[in-house]
Parts: sequence; structure tokens; C-alpha cells
Amino acid sequence: MKTAKKNIVILGGGESGVGAAILAQKQGFKVLVSDNGLLKDKYKTDLDAYELEWEENGHSLDRVFAADEVIKSPGIPDTVALIVELREKGIPVISEIEFAGRYTQATKICITGSNGKTTTALMTYHVLQKAGLDVAVCGNVGESFAKLVAEDPHEYYVIELSSFQLDGMFDFKAEIAILLNITPDHLDRYDYNMDNYAESKFRIIQNQTEEDYFIYCMDDELITSKINNKQIRAKQFPFTLEQQLEEGGWLDNEQQINILINNNKQQQTTMSIHDLAQQGKHNAYNSMASGITGSILKIRKELVRESLSDFQNIEHRLEPVVSVHGIEFINDSKATNVNSTWYALESMDKPTIWIAGGVDKGNDYTMLHALVKQKVKGIICLGTDNAKLHEAFGDVVEGIYDASSALEAVALSYRLAKKGYNVLLSPACASFDLFDNYEDRGNQFKKAVRGL
Ligand code: ADP
Repeated sequence: MKTAKKNIVILGGGESGVGAAILAQKQGFKVLVSDNGLLKDKYKTDLDAYELEWEENGHSLDRVFAADEVIKSPGIPDTVALIVELREKGIPVISEIEFAGRYTQATKICITGSNGKTTTALMTYHVLQKAGLDVAVCGNVGESFAKLVAEDPHEYYVIELSSFQLDGMFDFKAEIAILLNITPDHLDRYDYNMDNYAESKFRIIQNQTEEDYFIYCMDDELITSKINNKQIRAKQFPFTLEQQLEEGGWLDNEQQINILINNNKQQQTTMSIHDLAQQGKHNAYNSMASGITGSILKIRKELVRESLSDFQNIEHRLEPVVSVHGIEFINDSKATNVNSTWYALESMDKPTIWIAGGVDKGNDYTMLHALVKQKVKGIICLGTDNAKLHEAFGDVVEGIYDASSALEAVALSYRLAKKGYNVLLSPACASFDLFDNYEDRGNQFKKAVRGL
């Protein structure tokens, strides 16, 4: 095995690739950033500022195959020919997080799951920051981990990890690992095999020792069944809304949140579920995960409680937009799969007009039927192909309509809704048939609502 890597090739010149390049250069490696497509101007400027070599619109294969190690963007599937060939040649292909993890002694709090990663990462960051810890949040959210390690090191990192990042991680260790849930998503990258996807998520605990912590949702049956079949060395702190626990996070009397670890009753955090800044069942889970992390890091319970009650989430996640003539408009554009929409509908406490649709990733809508029947008064399908939604819900609601722009959808929803209703954009689908991305979809929705 080689000890010093001389040549590093970075495939993909986005946020993580550029961060990895800066760190690799700092560590004395020879670096090439190579992208199959075009680099954004912002990243070209960054790379030029560091006098880093880069190429776009294709790879110089001689250089790529001469690499001692390749750092691959999480956007590039393992199955593309180049990656397969690199592996066949025995050239290690790793992720930016794996690479950066080698150059820091900091405590790494890593968060994964199918839904809730960004919310929980930002919430956990908020808890730590309010307690005065030297912390940064990175990974899928904000700057890359590698860039921070290279240029702006911290004692604690809260790192949001997608399964694609995890797939390129081998020796990296999370001192605190959080696994929020595992529900179908991105299955196209996992041979349409749920177990492959779940195993990818479980890489979050690889290399953990007895000194480390594993925080997970006990109400997720897939997670618990996997845990029962694994040897887990880390100290485990589950959280649940369905039963009482001795340790971890749980609910008493359906409304009091409890967080207790290491049997330290004096530091037991208790608070009403109604005082959480982020409402909805899903956010109770996210809050417990963040709160347990705070307790592990010995943050005072008063501060944990305060942080969980004043955390402001970023846009597009069950974001209240405005109320127009007693009709509440809510932007949940980030809900790009059925499970996240389930939680959105579950949290609706008024009759709801639901705006859904977009690019369907092989959705099974059955799990939404009961909630839709109970809460939804009308559905507006906002996609280029709405056939599946009509098929799934045509018999369940009174009215189901099509719209081909955010403006049209909002106008229609305003006509259908009565005073005291919610209008919820929670698409359960990706956005790129009609929009650039979920942010664009959410922003157009909000603009249309504000124009009413
Ligand atoms: P991610 O980073 O995993 O995509 P986000 O925090 O951006 O997660 O939230 C994505 C969507 O999932 C939003 O619609 C949000 O309301 C919903 N959501 C947040 N937390 C959870 C959770 N624990 N379980 C299910 N859905 C969630």
C-alpha cells in the first residue's frame, strides 16, 4: 500500500470537488480537477485563484488513470464506465468527505437519512453554536467539509451526508452519527434494491468504537431491523414518538419531549412539543436528534431547550408564506418524495388544498391515501405528466385539476380554498419538468402567492 499519494484527480468541479482540490493542494499533492460538463464561473474563479489545474467538457484519461487516488463528486454514479474502470485498475475512488476526514482531529457529527438531513444539520448547528462551541455546518448544506478543513478549521463539524457521499467513505469515522429514517429515494442508483440503499445509509456508523455515539429513529422499522442484525460498537441513543424509553429521546403524555442520556437525570431535557420551533411529527424527531447531540456534548438543558424553541429553518421546508383572506399558504417545495409529503399532510390541522406533482421517481402513493381522504379537499397537479396522480387520487378527492405553472396553480388553489383552509405545496416529486430546481419551484410559488 502506498503511503504518500502524489497525484490526486478530482472528478466533478462543484462545491465538493473545488473544496477537495484546495485541501489536496494544501497537503502537497499534485491536483487536477476534471469535469465531464461545464464548470460554473464561480468555481473556475476559485480554482484559478489557487492556481489549480482544471479541465471541463471531458476528462484527459491518461491523467485520470495516472492518479494515485481519485476523489469523485457524489453526483457521479459508481456505475459509469470511467469509475468502473478506475476500480478495476485498483485506483482508489473516494468521496470528498473521506479525503477531508484524514486532515482533521475535530469532532464530527454526521447526519443522514432519506428526509430531514438539512433541517437536522442546521438545527444541531444552532444548538452547538448557541452553546458557544467552535462549530461549522457543511457537507450537502453550505460549504464543503474539505474547504473548511483547509481554510477555516473548527473544533466541531456538523456534516450532512447523502448516501452518495457515504458510498465513497471507507475509513472515515463519525464521533456522533445520526440516522433519521430510511424510506425509498434514489433507488435508481441502488439497482432498485432497498437493502442496498439502506446499507449505504448504515455506512454512517462504520468504524465507530465504544467511545462514539449512534443516534437513530426507533420508529423506523427498517432501521431497527437492520440494527438487530448488526454488531454496533457505539453507544446507542434511540428516539421515538411511540413508546417510553429509559434513555434517548421520547414523548410523555403525547406532548412532553424528554431527552436523557447516561442516566444523568439532572440534565434531563424536558419541553412541551408545542414549544418546538419546528412543528410536525417529523420535526419532533429532528429536534430529538439535535437535542440528544447537545446532551452528549454536555450542553446545558436550558440551552438545548431554548435552541430547539427558537431555531429558524431555511426556506422551502413547510415554510409558512402568508395568509390571504384567512387562507394559509405553505411552501414545502423541498418535499421531493412521498414520505416527506406524508409528514407535511400529517401536520395539516385544517382542510387543505394540496398542490402536488412534477417528475415522479417511481412513486407509490398508497401511503398517502388515508391522509388525503381525511384532510384534502382538492388536488392541483403541477407537472407535465399528471396521469399517475389522477389515477392514484381521482376517486379519493372531490376535485383534481391540472396546472402548468406556479401562477396557475396558485390562482386555482385560491379559487378552491375557503376561509380557514390551508394551501400546501408539497409535491412528492422532483421539479425539473417545469422548474430549474426545488428552490425555483418554491420561489415561483411564493411570488404567485404574494401577488394574490
Ligand atoms: P433532506 O436534506 O434530507 O432532503 P430537508 O430537511 O431538506 O431534508 O427536508 C426535506 C423535506 O422532508 C421537507 O419537505 C421536510 O418538511 C421533510 N422532512 C423534514 N424532516 C423530516 C423527517 N424527519 N421525516 C420525514 N420528512 C421530513
